[in-house]
Amino acid sequence: MIIIMLGAPASGKGSVAEILTKELNIPAVSSGDIFRKHISEETEIGKKLKEYVTKGELVPDSIVLEMLEARLNEEDAKNGLILDGFVRTIPQAEALDKMLEARNQKIDLVVNLETSDEEILERVVNRRICKNCKAVYNTVLHPSAVKGKCDKCGGELYQRDDDTLERAKNRLEVYYKETAPLQEYYEKTGALYTTTLSVKINRMKDEVAHDVIEYLKTK
Ligand code: ADP
Ligand code: ZN
Repeated sequence: MIIIMLGAPASGKGSVAEILTKELNIPAVSSGDIFRKHISEETEIGKKLKEYVTKGELVPDSIVLEMLEARLNEEDAKNGLILDGFVRTIPQAEALDKMLEARNQKIDLVVNLETSDEEILERVVNRRICKNCKAVYNTVLHPSAVKGKCDKCGGELYQRDDDTLERAKNRLEVYYKETAPLQEYYEKTGALYTTTLSVKINRMKDEVAHDVIEYLKTK
């Protein structure tokens, strides 16, 4: 089963994917996490990626697709993947369709998470991430018990370079221009399932993941 998580920065893609991966027993993969790992390890690819990711610009399709294909070829992806952050442009979506066709696979579901811009920006600037286990916190909405320390593993919390207000605004603009057109693309294939994760209306990740799983049963 192939599931794509679609949505603006900090719309909850990663949080919902984390639950779905356990419930459905298929691995989740975050493009941003893969890219940030390359950057922090200063690999050859990491050097090429750094500027784009830090500024909140999209990484060129060719690099993204090479990494996506490599990930699809890994042993554990045989039964499917939850893609968080792959794909983000129409050409990427078209290329993914071709890759899956060649593998006799298809996209089963695209979870499209909608949230107001206001809430997105608030979440981005207050987001803190554990350096060790990648758990995500929010200094206002759900802070860690001890400031700067992860509740789960005690690791140090940090703020991503691209999680500043200015860069978040840029990422949101890039999202509307390059990624949002994918909604229409997947609407046409019948794979799109639109919902929202919003703290303002108290609709949290467990409820969203639950609804996604129930919806899958009806497909
Ligand atoms: P968020 O969803 O919070 O914006 P991600 O961790 O998914 O963050 O992505 C971080 C950055 O990695 C993006 O701003 C972009 O530079 C790059 N990136 C991730 N996925 C893609 C993709 N599919 N195509 C192009 N660039 C990408
Ligand atoms: Zn941790």
